[in-house]
Amino acid sequence: MIDQQKLAHNLTALGELKRASGCKLLYSIKALPLQAVLQQVLPYVDGFSVSSLFEARFASAILAGAGDIHLTTPGMRVDECEELAQLCTHISFNSLSQQQRLSFKLEAISCGLRVNPKLSFLDDNRFDPCRPVSKLGVDIRRLEQYGLPANIQGLHWHTVFSCKTVKPMQKTIVRMHDLLAKNRSKLKWINLGGGYLYPQINDHSAFIALIQALRRQFEVDVFIEPGKAVVGDAGFLVSEVIDCFESDGKNIAVLDSSVNQHPEIFEYQKSPTLHFPEHGEQAVVLVGSSCLAGDVFGEYYLADVPKVGDKIIFKDVGAYSLVKANRFNGYPLPNIYELIGEECTHLKQDGYAEFYQQWKTGDG
Ligand SMILES: *Cc1c(COP(=O)(O)O)cnc(C)c1O
Repeated sequence: MIDQQKLAHNLTALGELKRASGCKLLYSIKALPLQAVLQQVLPYVDGFSVSSLFEARFASAILAGAGDIHLTTPGMRVDECEELAQLCTHISFNSLSQQQRLSFKLEAISCGLRVNPKLSFLDDNRFDPCRPVSKLGVDIRRLEQYGLPANIQGLHWHTVFSCKTVKPMQKTIVRMHDLLAKNRSKLKWINLGGGYLYPQINDHSAFIALIQALRRQFEVDVFIEPGKAVVGDAGFLVSEVIDCFESDGKNIAVLDSSVNQHPEIFEYQKSPTLHFPEHGEQAVVLVGSSCLAGDVFGEYYLADVPKVGDKIIFKDVGAYSLVKANRFNGYPLPNIYELIGEECTHLKQDGYAEFYQQWKTGDG
């Protein structure tokens, strides 16, 4: 369930940041590329940021020319470049090899480089673009030593995840300063990536000062491209208990959902936060309905042991859940609802027709 009010709250906060700092705002659609979300986001943003040809096509269909489309990906294919040049306004090459091989096909648009500042801010390697032997971005030391290739107009970096302070941004800009200064006459834009949960940061003065200083010192447009900051807390997973029993003395409640519908629960072994019911003293293990033994949402403490038919609602699942959902075991993708005030509208249902379409081969 997407809560339109929460989405509006986040967009208003981001719009205010844009106004106060003069930055340009893109929504990184990979967090949740749902059409209804993109349409609500549209009036607040300067465009979308995308990671692939299909995302670029979808973003372009929704923008209809009224905004920028930025792309960066390690996965750019030579046979896609012609169409990407039509769809995108800005492309940041992920490597010098990619730039050397593909830039001649993308001369019509503004090209930049994704830089790897080699400054880690995350303990968990799986989220850290600056981990050793990283595949993301060109090593800053290489660019300091040999300079930027010709025709590079922008620099892009993206180094944090779910960050609630702009300290990493401050430190990274300090690290980047010499490279920016040396290439001042070439650069038209800087893209600071996503990863910051701006609406959850109370004091925005540090961010505003950083953006204003960058714009003034280097005479560039400065872009931010948040994903989770836009949709993370606007998404809820509403499930129902469909079976209850004990296992080794613990209460198990089986939900009509599973890690299929929010794979990061299993991938990162992180329990989603409960929204309903309230917490209490009774330990209950909430599990999904797939055959995977580790399809477990987690152990929660509730006021009562749940009964079949009870609703269990998780919050903060708007980003990177639905977009990664799958039909393992033949269970459908989640139904999608939009909450507008007190009104709940059904937007979409995944059924047997979609399952059949995915797995049928030939005309049989
Ligand atoms: C994933 C990603 C984003 C959005 O990240 P959030 O953590 O959702 O804000 C922005 N830019 C790049 C390059 C990304 O890979």
